[in-house]
Amino acid sequence: MTLSPTSSTSSTSDVGHRTSDFSASDFSALSAYFHIPFCETKCVYCDFYSIEDRSSQSKFVSLLKKEIALKIEEHPELLGRELHTIFFGGGTPSLLSPEELSSIISEIKKNFIIARDVEFTLECNPGTVTLEKLSGYRKLGVNRLSFGVQSFNADELQWLSRIHSADEARIAIKLAREAGFENVSLDLMFALPNQTKEKLSYSLDEALALGTDHISAYNLTVEEGTPLNRMVKLGQVGEMAQEEAAELFEMVQTRLAEAGYSQYEISNYAKSPATRAHHNLVYWDGFKEYVSFGPSAHEFLGGMRAWNVSSLEQYGAMIEGGKLPRINSEELPIENRKTEVLFCQLRATGIALRQFKKIFGEDLLRHAELPMLLHEGMVVVEGDYLKLTKKGYRFCDGVVIRLMK
Ligand code: SF4
Repeated sequence: MTLSPTSSTSSTSDVGHRTSDFSASDFSALSAYFHIPFCETKCVYCDFYSIEDRSSQSKFVSLLKKEIALKIEEHPELLGRELHTIFFGGGTPSLLSPEELSSIISEIKKNFIIARDVEFTLECNPGTVTLEKLSGYRKLGVNRLSFGVQSFNADELQWLSRIHSADEARIAIKLAREAGFENVSLDLMFALPNQTKEKLSYSLDEALALGTDHISAYNLTVEEGTPLNRMVKLGQVGEMAQEEAAELFEMVQTRLAEAGYSQYEISNYAKSPATRAHHNLVYWDGFKEYVSFGPSAHEFLGGMRAWNVSSLEQYGAMIEGGKLPRINSEELPIENRKTEVLFCQLRATGIALRQFKKIFGEDLLRHAELPMLLHEGMVVVEGDYLKLTKKGYRFCDGVVIRLMK
């Protein structure tokens, strides 16, 4: 079952306009995630599902479109829901040609309404873009690019096995501006083994010089099953001590704040509320629904979490067999939901206290740990929200554990 467009638009962009007679008030807002499972090479630290063999990329685009149609067959209530955020992640979505992306967008538009003010993000690897490609994405309605830069130090980029140089990252962001993108984000990593303050400071200087609208700065974590994990187990690489990593975290917070970026999540900083990552804010809300497509993608619909198989082969076989490529789904018990909401909301814009009390029956303002957390400067109460402070962001897990007592 698909929704056929009933009206055309004269926009320069393919998205951002209604393609049917549904009115916005008929349906509640929804977000959509699309996982593109290809990378030129695997980075040493990465545990996201992706493969280097791109020979099946065009077949994958057809499968992804079929998955959208299958999803609507299984969930007819989704037909015509309005998408407020769309996120193409991966993997490396910037390996898609504008033509491939256009074909996926056409399928999206047959089944959903794309909101006029949609935030439409596409993750880019700086080593995979040209002005022509970026202009093509912009014409299709992508209005936010997120570049995985990670570092501006050549030795760090090489150690992380990134395919691009620092110069290519600088050029990619300039090209994004030339292509008309007004909302550009850049990812950095810190707490790399043996990373000095000077090296991190240089990367921050270079990132700030580019003036992107948003910066994500992630503490490198060693994930199970990655080459980095094996290197650590073999003693070839040592992880940075926690105190040292906390010092670098504080340096990131201070430098970005001085440059006018406001921290609104543990790892995320925006020049203004408008340039926050609204798609990710949906995840961190803990209650909002999102639908997802592609191998390994996770979704949250009707109180159920569900996730797809992390294998392109199985993904294809299931879709060709007329089945959604789902590997599992669950409805979390209330206690687990409570932990999840605590963690998700606290790490971002804060716990909505009245909503939390209404749903979980607990008044966090009367929590036994709260006076001490306030005294230690870990949290503040602002209006209806319990929020982490700059210091609290560095100790988020510990704060959540204390609030779970
Ligand atoms: S480019 Fe991104 S998704 Fe691909 S391997 Fe590297 S970190 Fe992972």
